Amino acid sequence: MSRIETNLAEIKQRIETACKNCGRNPNEITLVAVSKMHPVEAITTAREAGQLHFGENKVQELVPKMDAFENDPEIVWHMIGTLQTNKIKYLAKSVHWIHSVPKLKSLKEIQKRAASEDRVINVLIQVNISDEDQKSGCEPDDLPGLIQRAEEMPNLVIRGLMGMASFTDNMDQVRSEFRLLRTLFDQEKAKDYKNAKLEHLSMGMTNDLEVAIEEGSTMLRIGTAIFGER
Ligand SMILES: *Cc1c(COP(=O)(O)O)cnc(C)c1O
Repeated sequence: MSRIETNLAEIKQRIETACKNCGRNPNEITLVAVSKMHPVEAITTAREAGQLHFGENKVQELVPKMDAFENDPEIVWHMIGTLQTNKIKYLAKSVHWIHSVPKLKSLKEIQKRAASEDRVINVLIQVNISDEDQKSGCEPDDLPGLIQRAEEMPNLVIRGLMGMASFTDNMDQVRSEFRLLRTLFDQEKAKDYKNAKLEHLSMGMTNDLEVAIEEGSTMLRIGTAIFGER
């Protein structure tokens, strides 16, 4: 078995154990393999091991990788990194999910570009849950207004929220940030939005996936534990 294949098996075991410990069903959780800074061959290896969801944090890296697999319609592509509005046009042809949508301007641009490709793109609103200034995402107070505006946008669907915890070893802090995201998610889910199917909570990376699962994550974005150090 290749290293990547072994790693994938190990990460699935970690997910299963974490789910078991908090009484969740592992089938509720989508594993997004974050292949940033790793070559196309690494994706091929993971794909051959059965992995279908892949994520990248930069448009200029995601686009050539999507092109390299354009004959593989089963792969699901996720844009997970900071979103520059002027680069959304390059994504619209092939991307399936955009996790990192922080503001109305990005929503409008996704709508415009997805419409011209005659596609519907799945969107997660990124919420700023950490106390670090450089982490992007909308402020919690702006979230309802943002989801509301998507009602005018037939070429995207709001499918949930995404958040990144502070870069810290303090797991209590990480947990409280994830819990905030979960609370916002539950609040918005209870509302009757016309163009939102709020079912996904994208939170959890290599170092905090267990906490994320305990706090309700349904999408894990895992790089290092699958592909190795960058
Ligand atoms: C790189 C990255 C990840 C994966 O991080 P690991 O610690 O390598 O698992 C997850 N989310 C985003 C937004 C990233 O940029």
